[in-house]
Amino acid sequence: MEKLKNYWNEFLEILEKKEEYNAITLLESSAFIIDKNNNPTIVCSGDFAATHIKKDFLKRIEDFFKYKCEKDIDIKIIVDADFIKNNNIKIEKEIKEDIKEKTINNIDSAKKIDKSNLTNLNKKFRFDNFIQGNNNRYVFEAAKLVSSKAGKEYNPLYIYGSVGIGKTHILQAIGNNYLEINKNAKVLYVDGSGFRDEYIHGLQIKKPDIFKRKYKSLDMFLLDDLQLLESAQETSKELFEIFQFLYNAGKQMVFVSDKPPKELRNIEARLKNRFEQSLILSIEPPQYETRLAIIERKIKDLNTSIDEEIMKYMAENITTDVRKIEGAIMSYLSVRDIMKITPNVSQCEEMNIFKDYFTSKPKLKNATIKEIKKRVSDYYGMEISLLDSKDRTKFISKARHVAMYLACEYSKKSVTEIGLDFNRDHASVIHGRDKIREELKSNSHLSLELNNIISSFNIES
Ligand code: ADP
Ligand code: MG
Repeated sequence: MEKLKNYWNEFLEILEKKEEYNAITLLESSAFIIDKNNNPTIVCSGDFAATHIKKDFLKRIEDFFKYKCEKDIDIKIIVDADFIKNNNIKIEKEIKEDIKEKTINNIDSAKKIDKSNLTNLNKKFRFDNFIQGNNNRYVFEAAKLVSSKAGKEYNPLYIYGSVGIGKTHILQAIGNNYLEINKNAKVLYVDGSGFRDEYIHGLQIKKPDIFKRKYKSLDMFLLDDLQLLESAQETSKELFEIFQFLYNAGKQMVFVSDKPPKELRNIEARLKNRFEQSLILSIEPPQYETRLAIIERKIKDLNTSIDEEIMKYMAENITTDVRKIEGAIMSYLSVRDIMKITPNVSQCEEMNIFKDYFTSKPKLKNATIKEIKKRVSDYYGMEISLLDSKDRTKFISKARHVAMYLACEYSKKSVTEIGLDFNRDHASVIHGRDKIREELKSNSHLSLELNNIISSFNIES
């Protein structure tokens, strides 16, 4: 039974590797024990945690244990807030140190289980729980088309974008939806490192053909995090062969990466060339409105509610990574659950509830207005004096507003003092500042510009 505890820790390790913050927050604030009747049991701090562990993770945990133990393991879930408070559940972490070496691949090394029908798909990634916004609308439509007309339109499809913005979600939704329509189809989802490990494993046991056959028999091949195959030349040669085979057989392939094909390094040239001929689409980070919609949806799916003020606060401060949104929500709900209070924004700040999730603002302290003006005018390539002038050309006004905004955020001067520096009154400064603040909510390009300007402060000039 002690073994189960190790498996539990191993499971947490896997979640950490996959950066599934919501699961980690929930499970790490719970404890895994073997009760006096020898039943493996998850002790939760409250009903919220218990309900959601049961709904979203129990099956996965039991499946994992089944892999490990090669038999069915039933896990009980109970609520015992005192137990959680009285036991330092971090103790579990010490055991975790010992198993750090073990990785997700350990799941694959489990023997004797028939894996021929394994799709690796997670049913929670669906089209109907994916929020559309300007950042992903086109990808979403293409993905739906690909899953309903597999192999006929857009084959292969290549999707890229930065971390945590729904690439894996879309990719798996394609597979799940396709399987719903074609129940007996062979679909496989795998990521770059899983694919590589499987190929190498095939070579090691001197059975590369099993690997080839498996992939060539697919009806739909979903390869995530393709960039992990960079520098894996041999594997990418193999992938090229599989690609050609499936392509000629009219089977649908979807590739996901953090970069466009032309930026892939050290990948079989012919393969890269094929990717370049795919339909290539990018997902951008969601804008404020979309982030808010995602937050609302996630909370609704958890059958709970959170004050609008808190939701907006999250949407404003988590600007790039949706995974962090999920973590922040879980973190908030756990605090509410354990402490039996409903923190407002200032309490959240005091308790630092969101410190791991908010997008960090670039650091810049006590910059002088003179310096800010210089950086801004340099960045936009204009005369510094134009910032104080009456010139209202759009481009110049914008730079002026940016400078005012930065002065308000970083100079420690009052709006009246800042106004004097810009040859204006305090109301114009507030107007300029608020205009930028507002625009930052929806314009990711502007935040990029600001980040660039702010980073220029740290460079000698
Ligand atoms: P990526 O693969 O791009 O790093 P994921 O697809 O793993 O990101 O997304 C991270 C988390 O955010 C997932 O739990 C996913 O369900 C969620 N997510 C991302 N974008 C959306 C969206 N538009 N609507 C709903 N959930 C989303
Ligand atoms: Mg992903």
